[in-house]
Amino acid sequence: DNGTHNVVRLVDVVKVFRMGQQEVRALKGINLAIRSGEYLSIMGPSGSGKSTLFNMIGALDKPTSGRVFIDEVDVSQLDAYELAWLRCRKIGYIFQTFNLIQVMTAMENVTLPMIFAGMSRDEYVEKGMELLQLVGLAERYQHKPPELSGGQQQRVAIARALANDPAIILADEPTGNLDLATGEEIIGLLKRLSAERGVTIISATHDIKMLNVSDRVVWIRDGMVDRIEDREELKITVGEVG
Ligand code: ADP
Ligand code: MG
Repeated sequence: DNGTHNVVRLVDVVKVFRMGQQEVRALKGINLAIRSGEYLSIMGPSGSGKSTLFNMIGALDKPTSGRVFIDEVDVSQLDAYELAWLRCRKIGYIFQTFNLIQVMTAMENVTLPMIFAGMSRDEYVEKGMELLQLVGLAERYQHKPPELSGGQQQRVAIARALANDPAIILADEPTGNLDLATGEEIIGLLKRLSAERGVTIISATHDIKMLNVSDRVVWIRDGMVDRIEDREELKITVGEVG
């Protein structure tokens, strides 16, 4: 045991979407164990099931069959309030479209989850500023999303995801709406969180720039795990050869 445990474990996860007579088998039996502290990327072509898998891992949607364990707790056994607690405290979510509240300032967006979690005013004011500083946006704390660039909005979303010190950051196409250079900045920021804070990062993406920062890459094809690539092993092998 190297001190890590499975933060998320999926067992035979199947997801079928039914729309009238149509049936889409988006996930066809996924088995996956995600280790604490790793940077895991889920890659695959459009429509391969990345977002569906993302929603299973983050307990945002229920599998048609199979089990999802977060910290070895079967999430299907949780009631609505326990699930809300999990989503607010244990996991920080980042989406392609940022999903910030448009009428609220950067500071308000970041502190809202802290207020939900019952943090005192002094605490959330200090922590909000600290997180905006971390993502390089301290001077813009009073700006609302429409007054910020895409990259800046995604930085706010990352700060918000960190509000309650989650063990897991889940990011679905975090660079999908950003230009290349800005996307790279966001990837660098996620990597820093992983390296410096030990946060488990799970990112569904088709941005190949994510490959270089990932410890493992799960390649999804047609709702199935095609292969799992261990980038750490790759780095070690390359290092030994050179
Ligand atoms: P990706 O994120 O890799 O592009 P998705 O997980 O979004 O893929 O989609 C996988 C498959 O499931 C696609 O065929 C998509 O059309 C279908 N799908 C996803 N979400 C829904 C939904 N809510 N209702 C019906 N079909 C869906
Ligand atoms: Mg997607």
